[in-house]
Amino acid sequence: MVKLQKTLKIKLNPTKEQAERLKFLIEEYINVANKVVKKVNELQNQFSDSGQTNGKCSICGKEKGYHSKHLMKDTNNDLICLTCYKKTYSQYTLQKKNFQEKIGLRDDAKITKTFLTNAVRFVSNTIKGFDKIQDKKKSKLSYMEHKLTFWNGLLTEPSKRIEKKFKVIKYAPITDIRENPHFYSEAEIKSKLKRLEKKIKKFKMPNYPEFKNKTISLQKECYTWKKPEHLTLSFITKKGETIDYFGKTYLQSYMSLINIQNPIILLKQEGTEFYMCFPITKEVTIPKIDESFDPVGIDWGITRNIAVVTILNHKTKKPLFVKFYKAGLLLNKRIHYKNLRRKFGTKKRQDKINQLGSKEDKFIDRQIQDLSRIIITEITKHTKKPAIFMEKITDNREEASKFMRGKVLPLSVKERLQKYIAYKSYWEGIPIFLVPPEHTSQICSRCGNQDRNNRPKGSKLFKCTNTTCNYTANSDFNASVNIALKIYKGEYQPFDNSLFNEK
Ligand SMILES: [Zn+2]
Ligand SMILES: [Zn+2]
Repeated sequence: MVKLQKTLKIKLNPTKEQAERLKFLIEEYINVANKVVKKVNELQNQFSDSGQTNGKCSICGKEKGYHSKHLMKDTNNDLICLTCYKKTYSQYTLQKKNFQEKIGLRDDAKITKTFLTNAVRFVSNTIKGFDKIQDKKKSKLSYMEHKLTFWNGLLTEPSKRIEKKFKVIKYAPITDIRENPHFYSEAEIKSKLKRLEKKIKKFKMPNYPEFKNKTISLQKECYTWKKPEHLTLSFITKKGETIDYFGKTYLQSYMSLINIQNPIILLKQEGTEFYMCFPITKEVTIPKIDESFDPVGIDWGITRNIAVVTILNHKTKKPLFVKFYKAGLLLNKRIHYKNLRRKFGTKKRQDKINQLGSKEDKFIDRQIQDLSRIIITEITKHTKKPAIFMEKITDNREEASKFMRGKVLPLSVKERLQKYIAYKSYWEGIPIFLVPPEHTSQICSRCGNQDRNNRPKGSKLFKCTNTTCNYTANSDFNASVNIALKIYKGEYQPFDNSLFNEK
């Protein structure tokens, strides 16, 4: 039994009036949330790290000691224990009437009380998540403090101000090149120290970020939704009025999987469109395979094809379906972004470059999500009893010719694609396996002859060297047949579905 999770995203189809109200409410919600965040930041900045691990708390009066963490102190240098410190901005505090009055929420709020509470709870959950990440960053902090000591040392000992310059050569170990050592000037060290100190300060006293995305989380008080036909967002519509949306039949098939008991759903605004996102869970049982399954081989191409899928008929062991999925669009986009990055690189616009990176990543992610869906749909269309076999992914960029190297999809893209395919196949109850990648491209899928010369490096064509066979075929196709044939050799292992829980 495998437990799977996914998010359903449905597009709302509100009336003009409802859309106006949705827009206003999301804006108000974000406003409220940011007001609370600002106040919490203010509250936190009244305290600072005391540097002591134990002492008497001036609020609760208890003698407290922490092994690895420091107590806080207020502006009067009075010690505050971590429990009392966290209480100042806990969910309980944020939801208190007097707290909300203090920041003027009660007076300005143009939204219902339920909705207001919702927004405050949203902030508190976000803060909790942020704090958790911050705790994990603590180890980095000690490293930065170590660095700070090092650079401070250089300031007092000019003789040691030589830079260790390392060069990373692709596909080769790191080499130390010190022919032209660079000596740091005092000004350089000082500016480095300044940056480091700023970073450390930020690390120690993080300000919670402002909410910018127009995504808000709705608790169950905010909507009623029992049948696909009736979605009522109670904070936006009059009693009984429902919001229309697209894909009702699509949703109908998922209705039983939506957990109505614990429904934290998201309301999203993207441009002028609105979406609702629901987390759903499904438990599937994956059948044990035998020779009555039609084996499906997926080969990961190197450059031209991102994947080649071949389904074999279990009786004849001959292909009943073959498809080549081209990598063209993905590669073109990669080159497009690479050029853009180069352009901004010369202008030293790191912010733009970072932006491009996440934009490209989103694009690629959407593409491979779509691709994995198409592949699984195609497979289920052609066989009722598929068992999928994929090559274990290895770094095969070396195989690509020098000219093509820059145009090869990075390993991470293929890994993600593999994960998505496995996920979607599990979702459909299709067993999926990994096979060792060795020799799949060197073996003749017709006669079984294994020869390195069957396929010259980087060649599109497979040509069997066995003179009684002489089989010629597209090399990626030949490999995909070999992968499917692994079902009869028993050379496979189940896909590690614990990978699904990452992210
Ligand atoms: Zn205390
Ligand atoms: Zn052959």
